[in-house]
Amino acid sequence: MNKEFINEKEIWETINTTKNKDKSEVRDIFQKAEEAKGLNLYETSVLLHLEDQDLLQDLFSLAKKVKETIYGNRIVLFVPLYITNECSNICDYCGFRADNVELKRKTLTFAEIQEEVEILEKQGHKRILAVYGETLRYGVEKMAESIEAIYSTKSNPSGEIRRVNVNSAPLSIEDFKILKQANIGTYQCFQETYHKDTYQKVHIAGAKKDYQWRLNALHRAQEAGIDDVAIGVLYGLFDPYFETLAMLKHSEELEKKYNVGPHTISFPRLEPAFGSEISSKPPYMVNDELFKKIVAVIRLAVPYTGMILSTRETAELRHELINLGVSQISAGSKTSPGSYHESNINIPTSQQFKVGDERLLDDVIYDLISMELLPSFCTACYRLGRHGECFMDMAKNLHIKSFCQPNAILTFAEYIEDYSSEKTKKSGYNLIDKLVLRLGNKNIIERIKNELSEIKKGKRDIYH
Ligand code: SAM
Ligand code: SF4
Repeated sequence: MNKEFINEKEIWETINTTKNKDKSEVRDIFQKAEEAKGLNLYETSVLLHLEDQDLLQDLFSLAKKVKETIYGNRIVLFVPLYITNECSNICDYCGFRADNVELKRKTLTFAEIQEEVEILEKQGHKRILAVYGETLRYGVEKMAESIEAIYSTKSNPSGEIRRVNVNSAPLSIEDFKILKQANIGTYQCFQETYHKDTYQKVHIAGAKKDYQWRLNALHRAQEAGIDDVAIGVLYGLFDPYFETLAMLKHSEELEKKYNVGPHTISFPRLEPAFGSEISSKPPYMVNDELFKKIVAVIRLAVPYTGMILSTRETAELRHELINLGVSQISAGSKTSPGSYHESNINIPTSQQFKVGDERLLDDVIYDLISMELLPSFCTACYRLGRHGECFMDMAKNLHIKSFCQPNAILTFAEYIEDYSSEKTKKSGYNLIDKLVLRLGNKNIIERIKNELSEIKKGKRDIYH
């Protein structure tokens, strides 16, 4: 399989023909975006060029509105777990690069994985993103075993990981089948840059130099039966307008081929990494204002896709970005293997990059509540078989919200009962009381009230 779908000439032409469009055309695009059916490349590019402050404010409000139309006000929480920082690639921007001889290398044993997972469970996490460097010493069989080690770790009072997503180097179809059997949620692989020359330049050596192998990774995952796949671009390496449009081409291609676009989109910005010069001086720096615009435009372009905001960004900026269409965030993250262990906090010489938001999960949750956003630990869809095309159809038909909101309320109540601080408990239940009444349907309100009292009595893992 060798699918070419990034046409650089077409992308540049779109960028060059969509500058300074008049307000009436922009307003027409806003009107279309409000229907939450997505935008084409041309319309997306027009919005990327916006500079007018009034139009930008309207863009931001629209992004929030469209996200809420599809997913309600819930924000799903997850945490990354770095399994190994050993890597045979030399990616210019990454602290794990093979030629970074000063980096302290660490691969977690299965016992150490379980120790880390227990710590995360005791903070209240239910979703983990397992992250792997690319090394022959950690093949797919071992990845599958590490995932099993995560799922099998249970702790008191009701600690368990209910969904493991994976971020790893691209695999063959045969290897993806093994990953699928390990019961993973989403498989995530970022193209980093869709611009071929830049890709060749920043991937100095190693298997990752093969642009096409990476570009078709998610096709292979789909062929292997993994139907929740996730894309992303690493902003800072090349022209951000080009990257955004190319990423949308990737999304369109998956949708065309498999009837289901990416389950999530990530938009990491380069962060300073130990031993990487380019990471501190990105050649295409994306400032906060431009970043906000890009995030809002992505939400309008692919309204039904989950949008992930990581802790690379600072707490202050995350506070703003979260209202521009984001639907999932990580919290309490560390980017070196073994660093959730208390004796091993913040090791700059073994981490992948510097984290911008170092707040603990409970503080992030308290902040979400203060914005009237509903923290969610829900994993119901994937456990009930609502994934891939089935999930996307429900998102497109605006049905998914009717599952997300009640499930978010129930999983948040579990978190409050088992793990939250007193102040989060108080404001959390105030928010829940308000949101239950807004569920609309009398029968559903009654059911959720009953289930909340079951949770208070000790029942766990109620989902629909
Ligand atoms: N080794 C696998 C790969 O390269 O796809 C997966 C793990 S890699 C640690 C996960 C992601 O981290 C990469 O895809 C890249 O986008 C991101 N990353 C690498 N260096 C970064 C940096 N300095 N700042 C922000 N993100 C970075
Ligand atoms: Fe290795 Fe991934 Fe880092 Fe590249 S980005 S050096 S492949 S861990």
